Amino acid sequence: MDNKFLSKKGALSELLKALRDVSAADRPKVGARANEAKTKLEAALVAKRDGFENEALASRLEKERVDFTLPARRAPVGSLHPVTKITAEIVAIFRRLGFELAEGPEIETEFNNFDALNMREDHPARDMQDTFYVQSEKGGRLLRTHTSPVQIRSMLAKKKPPVRILCPGAVFRSDYDMTHSPMFHQVEGLYVDRDVSFAELRGALLFFAREMFGAQTQIRLRPSYFPFVEPGAEVDVTCVLCKGKGCRVCKDTGWLEILGGGMVHPKVFEAVGYGTGENPEPVTGFAFGMGVERIAMLKYGVPDLRLLFENDVRFLKQFGV
Ligand SMILES: [Zn+2]
Repeated sequence: MDNKFLSKKGALSELLKALRDVSAADRPKVGARANEAKTKLEAALVAKRDGFENEALASRLEKERVDFTLPARRAPVGSLHPVTKITAEIVAIFRRLGFELAEGPEIETEFNNFDALNMREDHPARDMQDTFYVQSEKGGRLLRTHTSPVQIRSMLAKKKPPVRILCPGAVFRSDYDMTHSPMFHQVEGLYVDRDVSFAELRGALLFFAREMFGAQTQIRLRPSYFPFVEPGAEVDVTCVLCKGKGCRVCKDTGWLEILGGGMVHPKVFEAVGYGTGENPEPVTGFAFGMGVERIAMLKYGVPDLRLLFENDVRFLKQFGV
């Protein structure tokens, strides 16, 4: 680009070159003027350049302006799985009755999962649960079929009653359809002390049912058989849908079965050494257990248990944090 004044052949250079031809007397005067012109030109140039730069900066700031008053964009937040939510709810309810949390491994010994729970090798009840074995030889390991082995572990570890624990966790059975999954979750409770009564079991379960399903909920106990309790009962609650009037879900009975329980079988106490040897004092206790998925399905109206394990975000995000 041509530069009329400042290039090598521009007016300023020509002027400075011309100084040679000026007489010695006039040279200082003319030189001073020439320098003055040069300084002015350079200052004008700098001013113009700064002007352009400021203009560019101003326009860029305008273009990239950030409005700090705008609401922030929300980062997507995950939600708790319904099984996690219901487990936490069950635990919170029984904590208020003084139950402490107890946990155990998912791979168990046959002793903890069966033998100590009054289900010896030839016991027919052992066929009631389709078991996944990790080692099939005698004394082998298996995926626990219920969280009851945690009760055994807790009593063996505590050595002496009272024991008042709640055992939530995953359990495994070879089963798969609309209401069964090979992996599901249970919460079991155990209370062992002197003179624990069946009435206390009923009281604890009624308290739980009302906290979980509403203050009007009733419970109904039906005699039933579980090897590790005697007597044993299946426990129904007022149907959560029809409130007892009768509907399709409760098959017009007005009741829904949600858990099982009973008084701890003397054989279980024998297996953990309660009431004998170092602990000769007689003890009694109650135990109960429930399926978390079943309660989640009833509480949220989920029609198919498998929805709980398909990890479809559209399903899961309905449950909020
Ligand atoms: Zn109903």
